[in-house]
Amino acid sequence: GPAPARDFIRQIVDEDNRVGKWGGRVHTRFPPEPNGYLHIGHAKSICLNFGLAKEFGGLCNLRFDDTNPAKEEVEYVDAIQEDVRWLGFSWDDRMFYASDYFEKLYAYAEQLIEKGLAYVDDLSQEEIRAYRGTLTEPGKDSPYRDRSPEENLELFRRMRAGEFPDGTKVLRLKIDMQSPNVVLRDPVIYRIKHVEHHRTGNAWCIYPMYDYTHCISDALEGITHSICSLEFENNRPLYDWVLNQLPVPGHPQQIEFARLNLSYTVLSKRKLIQLVTEKVVSGWDDPRLPTLSGIRRRGYTPEAMRDFCERIGVSKADSQVDMALLEHCLREDLNARAKRLMGVLRPLRLVITNYPEGQVEDIHFPYHPEDTAMGARKVPFSRELYVERDDFMEVPAKKWFRLAPGAEVRLRHAYYVTCTEVIKDPTTGEVVELRCVHDPATKGGWSSDGRKVKGTIHWVSAAHALPAEVRLYDRLFTKENPTEGKGDFMDHLNPHSLEVIENALIEPALADIPVGENVQFERLGYFCVDKDSTPQKRVFNRSVALKDSWAK
Ligand code: ATP
Ligand code: MG
Ligand code: MG
Repeated sequence: GPAPARDFIRQIVDEDNRVGKWGGRVHTRFPPEPNGYLHIGHAKSICLNFGLAKEFGGLCNLRFDDTNPAKEEVEYVDAIQEDVRWLGFSWDDRMFYASDYFEKLYAYAEQLIEKGLAYVDDLSQEEIRAYRGTLTEPGKDSPYRDRSPEENLELFRRMRAGEFPDGTKVLRLKIDMQSPNVVLRDPVIYRIKHVEHHRTGNAWCIYPMYDYTHCISDALEGITHSICSLEFENNRPLYDWVLNQLPVPGHPQQIEFARLNLSYTVLSKRKLIQLVTEKVVSGWDDPRLPTLSGIRRRGYTPEAMRDFCERIGVSKADSQVDMALLEHCLREDLNARAKRLMGVLRPLRLVITNYPEGQVEDIHFPYHPEDTAMGARKVPFSRELYVERDDFMEVPAKKWFRLAPGAEVRLRHAYYVTCTEVIKDPTTGEVVELRCVHDPATKGGWSSDGRKVKGTIHWVSAAHALPAEVRLYDRLFTKENPTEGKGDFMDHLNPHSLEVIENALIEPALADIPVGENVQFERLGYFCVDKDSTPQKRVFNRSVALKDSWAK
């Protein structure tokens, strides 16, 4: 693709390289907390961090920010690695865990205590919050703020030794309770949690907080540019404060960028967990979810995802991006490389009365109209076919070029047929069959006499078609920003986000497409074979319809 634009982060890196700030090094990290599956918002951060490293010949670490054992699980650690790899990035031996640094973080905390820069506080969580003040109201010193370093050190060691119950003591930095920046009002850096950790087991019952852990982890790993989302802007002075007090091996620069917000969905692990645990969706990889495992199962490609991230770019301004842009990126990717095949979602029987009974023709179908290198297959054609119910109108609307009584249409790559009779169920009146005649001189789907046949429809041979289940998806929420305003985001779920078509019919070649592969069903959209497929019945997810609503 074209060279990425010089966004504000790339300008910072350019300037750092120009003045030799890091000796030409660029070292970033992607630091997920393993408390859920990654979503499309994380993809923005992954593409940015791994992308910068790639572009500047630098390195990017994958680091699990695993300091809150109550919410973290190995399942998430594994899923995150799979998703980053799927996006096309690798970290070689640079995978780390914040929990690897617990011992070092603890030693640094003792140093801060010795320097009189941290103290053990006995106030409860509620008291600490009340003492902290607000934006307009200064904070108040805790009565425990002036404990001596000796006393603090002894108490902190006893905290570690497990002598105190959860919530009875914390370690706080001694910065400034009057600071206009609330974040700097003696932040808590350790709390007691008698909870088993997925990596360190029961070795610890005190766990460090994010603000304290993150900057030190960055410094220990030799990170140069520590990129995070905008809500951490107020935390930057704290990031710098901690690193300035400690003999750490480096002092990375924290840079904030705007998070991605996507319309008609939610990008927050907490909310996604709720959708999964309340069984609104079938699991983390439900194709309706904006999780990377969900969109992968839906049929989105890493190429489309990366293209999307490049197009949305990076800035300091919050914005809401339309899902249609991601769909557009997927269509662009798949248009070039997905095989075209035929499937009928809502079958209507079509009998060609003047076609010999028992005769089968193998019709030559290229897989791609422009790319002959993709090859071709034979599609069986016979007297009895199925076509799409939606391609017939008994009383045709204006500009209707498809099937109607007396109308002539082209059966894709086969023949022109004219509808001569409409058979209805005598009790319900429903159309159950169309009788047609074909013009044998139009073999291949064209005529030398130049007569106009505008409509081309897809079909399958009744005797050769195979059953399939097709799942059609719509947006998960009916409201553009489901979390905006009062009320619960769950109130805005779209009850029609999934439509299951159990009795679709597919041409035989579609049975050979492996799980996970993308194809185009002619005229219907891009589909992907789902893992629920069995040898008896293929299951397809519609990734995206063909029509593009993205306004360029
Ligand atoms: P969530 O609110 O979904 O839990 P998080 O920020 O708490 O997200 P982390 O695991 O801490 O999740 O995120 C890892 C990295 O991904 C962070 O650097 C974070 O800034 C980034 N990130 C998370 N969500 C988005 C988003 N919507 N847009 C851009 N970056 C994001
Ligand atoms: Mg989080
Ligand atoms: Mg976070």
